[in-house]
Amino acid sequence: MSERAVRLSQAGGPEVMQLQTVEVGDPGPGEIRIRQKAAGLNYIDIYQRSGVYNIPMPSGLGLEGAGVVEAVGEGVTHLQVGDRVAYASQPIGAYATARVMPARCVVRLPDSLSFEQGAAMMLKGLTVQYLLRKTLPQGGLQAGDHVLFHAAAGGVGLIACQWAKALGLRLIATAGSDAKCQLALQHGAEVAINYQRENFADRVKEITGGEGVKVVYDSVGASTFEGSLACLRNFGLMVSFGNASGIVPPVPTSALAGKGLYLTRPSLFTHLSSREATQAMADDLFGVVASGHVKIEVEKQYPLEAVQQAHRDMESRSTTGASVLRLD
Ligand code: NDP
Repeated sequence: MSERAVRLSQAGGPEVMQLQTVEVGDPGPGEIRIRQKAAGLNYIDIYQRSGVYNIPMPSGLGLEGAGVVEAVGEGVTHLQVGDRVAYASQPIGAYATARVMPARCVVRLPDSLSFEQGAAMMLKGLTVQYLLRKTLPQGGLQAGDHVLFHAAAGGVGLIACQWAKALGLRLIATAGSDAKCQLALQHGAEVAINYQRENFADRVKEITGGEGVKVVYDSVGASTFEGSLACLRNFGLMVSFGNASGIVPPVPTSALAGKGLYLTRPSLFTHLSSREATQAMADDLFGVVASGHVKIEVEKQYPLEAVQQAHRDMESRSTTGASVLRLD
């Protein structure tokens, strides 16, 4: 079967992504073939395309998608031909009209959600699931606790604002413009700081009456890391889960000493270690969406041919919320 897919043979700028015709075969044991309807666009795709994260070349791109099961390999029992499905998963290759992939990474998409929503919510929503529900400070998180969430108007960020509010957390957002701050507030942040204009660490101290927050969720990396540590209260938890502004330089343990801080650098894919774990996390996500507390909005849809523009938009910080590639 001839299909269209984004391929790259070397790391580099958006121009290294080329649309090619590829052959997609039948699924082997434990695999399914998906007729894809939409693929999620994620900042991690930029790290992989640009070489910040090394991937074996030549390669496809994309880790999140939704579509319909078209063929099922031997031994697959939880999915059938015709099922509407979604996933956030390795191997790389979601920017494609059809693909074969391990069935254990894929879950059924509730009928109430569109394919575009499925492709916009799995990687980002499952990330928020493990951040807010599993990556906890000493003593856990209770309603009323302050947390700081950077880049809160982004794809992961807008889901985090809503889910944190549902949990009763007092989320302090940062974002790169006043308009983005407004968006974070509309999605449930209690306060929003434009960190291009203001010193966010000073503002966080002020907002928390000098105490600091229990957890900082930092996906911005190099430019925010030091300030983030300053925002934590005693025994607080620093969650460094991305590096949109650059990789965080090595941190001496002495940087944690004054306040007895905890530091973790988690990855979604460690959490998605089995089909059962993936399903349990997806059920939690689908549940909070079904309750109405978290709405999955698709900010922008691009045709597959516009993939280079989609990456330029993300890298230039001009996007908010989640964007997808349309694949039909
Ligand atoms: P976003 O939509 O949040 O886009 C990234 C945002 O980072 C930008 O919009 C921008 O927001 C902010 N940013 C700050 N400094 C820079 C800079 N110098 N260059 C570019 N952007 C900058 O992306 P996603 O929702 O896809 O992902 C959010 C983050 O979460 C990413 O860093 C991603 O890698 C990470 N992530 C980590 C996972 C994990 O398990 N470890 C899983 C999923 C995502 P602003 O203008 O408001 O500053």
